[in-house]
Parts: sequence; C-alpha cells; structure tokens
Amino acid sequence: MSPFEEFDGQTPTWCPGCGNWAIGAVVKRALANLRLSPSSVFVSFGIGCSGNMNDFLNAYAVHALHGRAIPVAIGFKLANHKMPVVAIVGDGDCYGEGGNHFLHALRGNHDITVIVHDNSVYGLTTGQSAPTSPKGFRSKSTPDGLIETPLNPLALAISQGGTFVSQAYASRVPQITELIQKAITHKGFSLVNVLQPCVTFNRTNTYDYYDSKVYDLPSSYIPHDQVSALKHAMNMTIKEEFPLGIVYESKRPAFHECLPQLGKQTLLERGQFEGIHEILEHFI
Ligand code: SF4
Repeated sequence: MSPFEEFDGQTPTWCPGCGNWAIGAVVKRALANLRLSPSSVFVSFGIGCSGNMNDFLNAYAVHALHGRAIPVAIGFKLANHKMPVVAIVGDGDCYGEGGNHFLHALRGNHDITVIVHDNSVYGLTTGQSAPTSPKGFRSKSTPDGLIETPLNPLALAISQGGTFVSQAYASRVPQITELIQKAITHKGFSLVNVLQPCVTFNRTNTYDYYDSKVYDLPSSYIPHDQVSALKHAMNMTIKEEFPLGIVYESKRPAFHECLPQLGKQTLLERGQFEGIHEILEHFI
C-alpha cells in the first residue's frame, strides 16, 4: 500500500520508514471497515509525531495539549456517549505527561479506545528518553544511560481495570487493523499499544529488535484470566518478550452506563450545550 494513496495525496511529516505510516493508514482503514463516517466518530490527538495525524484524518477531532488527549476524549464521551471516541497518542504523552489521566480512565472503564504509538522515545522533540525506553537507553536526555526501568503499559492497564488490553506491532498491518476494530466496538476502556519503531531517534527498539522479540499469543489462549494476562504482560519486563494480540478482555459497566441521568438521552440530545456554537465562535 502506498501511504500517499491512504492519505489522499497529502504528505504527513513523518520520516521515511517510521512506524507511524502504517498506524496512520490502518486507523483510516479500520474506521472505514466499521463504516464510521467522518461525522460519526470523535478522535482526540495527543502531542508528538503521532499527533500529526490530526491533519490527515477527516473526523470530529481535537489536537489536545500535552498529556490531555484522554480527558478530552472522556469529556466528549460524556457529552455524547452514543458516538465512538478514540484517543491517538504517543507513549510519552499517554504514559508520561498524561499518565495520571491514563490511570483514572482505566479505573473508570470509560468507553474510549486509546491507540498508543509506542516508540519508546520522544521523537518530535528529537530524541529524549520516554516512559517505555529500556533501562540503559542512551539519548539526548540520558547520555550516560537511563537509570529507570521501563513502564509496562499492559501490566498497568490490566491491573488498573482496563477491560480490553491489546498489543500490536507496526509491521503487522492486518493484526493492527483487527485489534483497532475490536477495540472500538468493545464497550469500556480499550487499549491498543502499538510497538512503533522510531527509525530516526531510537536505535535500540528497531524493526530488527522487535522482529526477534515479539510473539503471537497462542490460538488456545483465552484472555479472560487476569493472572494469565499479567504473566504475558510481565514477559515484557522480565524476559524482554512482547506478546501480540488481545492480552486481556473482560466485561463491566462503562462509566457513563453508571450514570442514570444519561440513561435515555445524551447530554447533547438534552440540549445541555445550547449556545455552545456561539461560545466557540467567540474563540475562533
Ligand atoms: Fe517517526 Fe521518529 Fe521520525 Fe517521529 S522522529 S516521524 S517517530 S521516525
């Protein structure tokens, strides 16, 4: 597939070979496969290279401030809970700057899909270590090697109440497409952590590295047991092996379903936002 076909002839400012190309194209394809037109989905973008997709995706969209893509997504969901809501973020934005929001969105089981371009580095700011950078990672911000151990997004999401926790790899396009579609149709908080090589600023987590470190969950694996799911998640920390697929899935009411006042109508349908257009126009 040519990325230029997928992006309608426009050219995102991503480096040649970056995993963002595949993820960007897949997001568009997944939305089209789900027959979600631009006016029937809301997307909240975080900062960083992944956020540049905001300019190339035709949908109700907001390019949020640092770490704030998730609360923007939650706010939109509570205003119009009948519309699918997606947050597209990087690992630095989601697990670092917005880590607090990530934790509490998991606890609340807010019905949003979070797609993380996990490249283990701050790419747009030219290569500083990020929450998922490996221990010892040498970067502009850690020239003598990173002291901290990497954050484990899957273990965090499973232990804090996420009800759909999955991982994909940027070079496996069909699998990312399938996982994103399943995540969007899941009722509750869904995470698709996409391992995404940054070919310019991360010389550790390369395509060769991931090719030798990822593994598919066996077809017999049933993702409903939290302990088994945590074992696979912890393989990333203990063995440096990365499971691909749905690692954990469960059912419990989403946050908005626990609010009786949202039972029949959305806030939008109830006219709670009358006059909002005039207010917004004031800022444009
Ligand atoms: Fe991709 Fe890294 Fe280039 Fe950003 S800096 S576009 S993450 S390769």
